Amino acid sequence: MHITDLKCAILGGSPVVRITTDAGIEGYGQAEHFKPYLKPHVLFYRDYILGQDPTDVERVMLRIRRLGSFKPWGSAVSAIEMALWDIAGKAAGVPVYKLLGGKVRDKVRVYNGAARFPLAGQEPEQYADNMARMAEAKEGFSIIKQGIGFHSRMPDELPDFSYGERLAVHHQTERGLLTERGLKHVVACVEAMKEVLGDEIGLALDCGPGWTVPDAIRLAKALEGLHILWLEDLISGDYTPYVLAEQYREVTRSTSTPIHTGEQIYLRQNFKALFEMQAVNIVGPDPADIGGLAELKWVAEYADLHGILMAPHGTGDGLIGLAALVQVAATLPRNYIAFEYPVGRPVWWYDIIDGLPDPIVENSFITVWDRPGLGVTLNKNAARQYLAAEDKNFFT
Ligand SMILES: [Mg+2]
Repeated sequence: MHITDLKCAILGGSPVVRITTDAGIEGYGQAEHFKPYLKPHVLFYRDYILGQDPTDVERVMLRIRRLGSFKPWGSAVSAIEMALWDIAGKAAGVPVYKLLGGKVRDKVRVYNGAARFPLAGQEPEQYADNMARMAEAKEGFSIIKQGIGFHSRMPDELPDFSYGERLAVHHQTERGLLTERGLKHVVACVEAMKEVLGDEIGLALDCGPGWTVPDAIRLAKALEGLHILWLEDLISGDYTPYVLAEQYREVTRSTSTPIHTGEQIYLRQNFKALFEMQAVNIVGPDPADIGGLAELKWVAEYADLHGILMAPHGTGDGLIGLAALVQVAATLPRNYIAFEYPVGRPVWWYDIIDGLPDPIVENSFITVWDRPGLGVTLNKNAARQYLAAEDKNFFT
């Protein structure tokens, strides 16, 4: 079997990869819906993989893996890898998890990082109200993640939140030393959310990046009595193209609150310092950013060797991305906590994907399905109407 074409269309903001073969088997992958600009980047790899046997996934990846980078530029490589596994599974007549080493679990836990309600404001009561709504979600999430600090609108809406300069480009470009009032405000919002959740539902916090090491330590220690599941991306993360393991180690060694990072990191080599220095307690690579499913599996095994836990990122990965997350999460070692459940955006994505269970999530778990490949299918007749004019040949 060999690859005859690599195509990319933008469906509701998501770059969707379609790889075709001379055997009539096709595979799909998807990158985050925040990244419609990736289409030319995906197509850049076309000539590198044409004619290759897609079922030799690793040999194909050797041709393109070095031509990627940290978020967002690893996404194109990652979505192609996803599509290769989809083909390999379909060709073998088995679900992708069988090819990644087989199932460790029959159902995978997910956490809420995408099923959101708009926050009415930045005061503790509003964080509490918002959390109460999320706690009622039909998925019955056992873990909810909320943005705070530099991963929220606090720097924009609270006067004197930090001593940092405002760039007014995007809140995630903010950084700086917090004022005493700013830090107290963050802690008050977290306390208000914990008041709602009690010990029934776990609370994780996406915090930055942008915190200084001393403020990160102050926050982590201030929250120690609250049993926060993790503090994510305090120092680096999101779209920072570096890791700063030394700074993370300082924070992690100073507190009993678990410290988490990794959604922006591309390839196993860039996790090495985090693991070998015991710089964090949990990592959250995204299969649509790290370099693909096998890369995530490899990193999870290496994390486990170092006593580090896994909570993969996935908020914008869409429904093909969801299928990919389910497949790989089924195979991860027992350092697995949960992955971040992506929702279909726009909602018509649920009309163009066949194969998802209904409901998808029950009591915070998804039952791993057994259909070949990723186990979901893009319904061409339903999807065609959403293709832009320039993508109208996507299915031909
Ligand atoms: Mg995050």
